[in-house]
Amino acid sequence: MAGREDVVPRPPEHVRCKNFGCNKYFDPRYPEQTKCTHHKLPPVFHETAKYWACCHDKKAYDWEEFMKIPGCQQGQCTDVAKDKKFLGGADLRAENAPKRLDDDVPVDPRKKLDKLREGLVSIGVGPDDFDRAWGRLGAKLGDLNLVVQQMNQLFTEVLQNADTNEMNLPD
Ligand SMILES: [Zn+2]
Ligand SMILES: [Zn+2]
Repeated sequence: MAGREDVVPRPPEHVRCKNFGCNKYFDPRYPEQTKCTHHKLPPVFHETAKYWACCHDKKAYDWEEFMKIPGCQQGQCTDVAKDKKFLGGADLRAENAPKRLDDDVPVDPRKKLDKLREGLVSIGVGPDDFDRAWGRLGAKLGDLNLVVQQMNQLFTEVLQNADTNEMNLPD
């Protein structure tokens, strides 16, 4: 049974803390029971460097390293998102236009499908064919995340088979 106590199911009423770099789930009814170590300012992803705007002396160059940078603030967890507009403040030169990671990697499956569609259309696939395909999958699976997964499988298969078919072509 050792280690079992680590696996605590998340009660449905818990929400993720919105403080920068905390990510802990907590019960929003009792924020006073939380201990939150977090960052004062948002993350900055600039070229290969990843750091927190409040701790710019601690730069990381990969995700794991970045996640290990200890928070510089102590407090309580909150479900109220911080206003992000101070990202362009005195600490950060505006011309360095910091990029948030979620600009690069869409988490929204609808956006992923849009990107995929864009790419396919750019190589000549009919946009209507793509729309019909994901529409059908969406209706069948009922969840766009599953549609994305299914697209992944379909394309992986097609790409792998494309390779074999080519090798089987008669001269
Ligand atoms: Zn910090
Ligand atoms: Zn927190």
